[in-house]
Amino acid sequence: MNKARRFLSGADHRRIEKSFANAGLPKKWWKAFGRELRHCARCGERLSWRLVRAEGQRRFVCGGCRWIFYQNPKIVAAALPVWKNKIVLLRRAIEPAKGLWSHPAGFMELGETVQDAAIRETREEIGCRVRLAGPARLYSYDDAAVVTVVYDAWVVGAGPRAGAESLEVKAFAADEIPWDRLAFRSTYHALRDWADRRSKS
Ligand SMILES: [Zn+2]
Repeated sequence: MNKARRFLSGADHRRIEKSFANAGLPKKWWKAFGRELRHCARCGERLSWRLVRAEGQRRFVCGGCRWIFYQNPKIVAAALPVWKNKIVLLRRAIEPAKGLWSHPAGFMELGETVQDAAIRETREEIGCRVRLAGPARLYSYDDAAVVTVVYDAWVVGAGPRAGAESLEVKAFAADEIPWDRLAFRSTYHALRDWADRRSKS
């Protein structure tokens, strides 16, 4: 590792990593969200990992302006687009899970509703317009940094085509879904639930 790029010492890293573990947080969280953090986004001072007494939680806190860097799960908006009675999936062209299959999904932006985000992501990833149908279903895990909100959807107008973030786009009947080549745990659970609804309707 390039020492010049680290503002915390190796001992600091080990101490914080242990503190993550003691708080019951998975090691991969530290790798994904802690290790890269160095400076306050407001004033540029160093961040430190310390107890916020009012909350009884350790967090990254700025040593200069005392700004607390809150890390909370983000919302992923997703759609299960049905076209000609099949579900349209895409093979991901980007990491994470590059080369594996997913329904359209992506991070919600400020200024959007969850529904707006699900419709936009579907247009970007499989190139078609959809109409959503409620209710939304939520997929949440205590070791994941996202909450996935999934809508049933119908393709309206022109059929699907691969977008820039997709290697391939294909429509699958419930019994054709590539179960062993799905991108994420939530993908598997959302498609399982979709296939169950199909078999009951
Ligand atoms: Zn600061």
